Amino acid sequence: MTKILTFGHQNPDTDTITSALVMQDLQTAAGKDVEAVRLGEVSAETQYALDQFNVAAPRLIDKIEGEQVILVDHNEFQQSAPGIESATILMVVDHHRISNFETAAPLYYRAEPVGCTATILNKMYKENGIEIKPEIAGLMLSAIISDTLLFKSPTCTAEDVQAAAELEKIAGITKEEYGLEMLKAGASTADKTVEELLNIDAKSFSMGDKEVRVAQVNTVDIDEVFARQEELENAINAETAQHGYDLFVLVVTDIINSDSKVLALGQEQAAVEQAFNVALDKNTALLKGVVSRKKQVVPQLTDVLS
Ligand code: MN
Ligand code: MN
Repeated sequence: MTKILTFGHQNPDTDTITSALVMQDLQTAAGKDVEAVRLGEVSAETQYALDQFNVAAPRLIDKIEGEQVILVDHNEFQQSAPGIESATILMVVDHHRISNFETAAPLYYRAEPVGCTATILNKMYKENGIEIKPEIAGLMLSAIISDTLLFKSPTCTAEDVQAAAELEKIAGITKEEYGLEMLKAGASTADKTVEELLNIDAKSFSMGDKEVRVAQVNTVDIDEVFARQEELENAINAETAQHGYDLFVLVVTDIINSDSKVLALGQEQAAVEQAFNVALDKNTALLKGVVSRKKQVVPQLTDVLS
C-alpha cells in the first residue's frame, strides 16, 4: 500500500499542523497508511500545544512529487505544497473559500463554513464511530481556540463552541485557562525578526488579476510591533519586489482587545482605504473589531479588487 501524505497550508498555523496529525490518527484508525507532514516551521503557539499533549511535530517536506495526498485546512494551490499539481488529491477537509482548485479525478471534498478544520474532524470521528484519544482531543481543542481566538472571532460558530466543550472533557483541561496561555505563547513578538513576523501566518491570494499578500501577527501589544514599522516596511517592500505582489497587508491583531492595526504597502494600497472605509496614516490604519483575515479582511479586499 502506498503511503498517503496529509498536510495543511504553507506557513502552518495551529489548525494546519494539528489537523494533519488528527487526520493521520483518524485515517490510521480506519486502516489507512497516512502520514502527517508540514510545509513550514512550527510556530511558538503550535509548539506550546504539541508540548502540552506530548505529540511530536509532523515531518517537514518541501515539495510533492506525484504522491497521493489529503489536504486539510486549505485548498488553494498557491497556499499548498510546491508540486501540488502533480499529486492525486484523495480528500480535502477545509473551512475556507474554494479558489484555484481542480482535480483530474473524483475526490472526497468536505467544506463547511465553521471556524476551524478541527470542528469538522471532530464530527468525522463521531460519524465513523472512532474513539477520540485525550491527546487528539487536546490538539483539536487547541486548533479551535487558535482559529477562533478563544471563541471571540466572528468566524466562530455554535458548532465550534459545542465541539470545544466536548473536546475539553476528553482532553481533561479547562479551555479558557489553557487557551489564554496557548495564545500568549504565540503572541510574543519582541523576540522575532521582522522577516519572521511577516511569515508567521502569511497567505497569498488572487483577487481579480491582483496578487495580494495578507500576513497576520497576534500580539498583546500592538505598539511593540509598530515600534519597528520602518524595518517592517523595508522587509515588506523587499518581499513585494521579489514576488511581485500588488498589495501587501500586515494585520497586527490585539488578542486581548480584539482590534487590529494594519500596515498596507504596494501599488494597490488605496484598496485598503476603500475596503475598510479608512484613511491610511503613514501606511497604517486601526480596524476596530477586526480579528479575522478570512471573514473581515480577505472578502472586503476581494470586493474592491475584483
Ligand atoms: Mn489555517
Ligand atoms: Mn483553520
